Amino acid sequence: MGFKTVVFSDIADAPATFVTNQTIIADYSDQDALKKFAQMIDIATFEFENIPLEAVSFLQQHVEVCPNAEVLKITQHRVLEKDFLNSIGVKTADYATSNFAENLNKFGKAILKTATMGYDGKGQFVLKAGDSLPELGSSPWILEKFCPFDSEISVMVVRSKSGEIKAYEPLTNIHKNGILDESYYPAKVSDLLKIKAQDLAKSIAEKIGLIGVLAVEMFVIGDELLVNELAPRPHNSGHFSMDAAVTSQFEQLIRAIVGLPLGSTEFHSTGHMKNLIGDEVNNLEEFYKNPNAKIHLYGKVEAKAGRKMGHINILNSN
Ligand code: AMP
Repeated sequence: MGFKTVVFSDIADAPATFVTNQTIIADYSDQDALKKFAQMIDIATFEFENIPLEAVSFLQQHVEVCPNAEVLKITQHRVLEKDFLNSIGVKTADYATSNFAENLNKFGKAILKTATMGYDGKGQFVLKAGDSLPELGSSPWILEKFCPFDSEISVMVVRSKSGEIKAYEPLTNIHKNGILDESYYPAKVSDLLKIKAQDLAKSIAEKIGLIGVLAVEMFVIGDELLVNELAPRPHNSGHFSMDAAVTSQFEQLIRAIVGLPLGSTEFHSTGHMKNLIGDEVNNLEEFYKNPNAKIHLYGKVEAKAGRKMGHINILNSN
């Protein structure tokens, strides 16, 4: 798109550092480095929500940040996120932030999650009534009622500076051990539910004041949708748009934050996205032989168990 980019990362060999014009490697608490970063750029965005809020709030005093720190604050804390969703009339799983033993008995089956810094099922315990609780320490936790969902879907929604808003159609997500394994387009839900999911995502994006892209993860129970999680950034389940949609989620993010008109969110191909988790990245032969498989590798140094090393978009041939 002709833009030059600067990446700020606290990890020297982070994947984004391989594809940018300039890089600043520093701790997120290093205010001199953040100031220098702000001087080098016209606008900042993020692609990971576990950045300390203080770093983004500080940066925002020196340069425009989209989405803003308020959006990040809500979406990086499971309790604030669920409180926000319920305050705008969006349904979530029932949840409790205290009296966990009592609430566990009320819920019957529940998931205890760390309220912050959790992702890919990390920091989560599935419990049933009468189970003893794990050692909780001082960090905040949330107890969520277990939702016996029919399936999981997600919608990527994009909203630009001018207020223009578009949603991609949902994809069906399949998780393995709490980690997204595959996303299927089209989602295996009714046309009515697809529209309902897109409308829901758009309304959340508007009410939270998003400028950028937002993933809205939902549980499907009959014809009801419960929102599980929000991620204010390009999302794993949106990666299928890179090869199967007119405009990828990454291009949309840039269009949204620089104030260009949004591109079409239409998918021109059906198929699915397969994540390469851990050492799956070492078995690519089958995919290289498939002319409809588009392989994306992130260049992460070590294929640790559970680490997302890349993904493959497999387009259906007609
Ligand atoms: P999360 O980190 O909240 O996205 O959770 C990871 C995965 O765990 C979800 O995609 C679901 O498959 C499952 N999960 C999380 N919360 C619940 C819940 N309240 N009820 C049932 N399954 C859940």
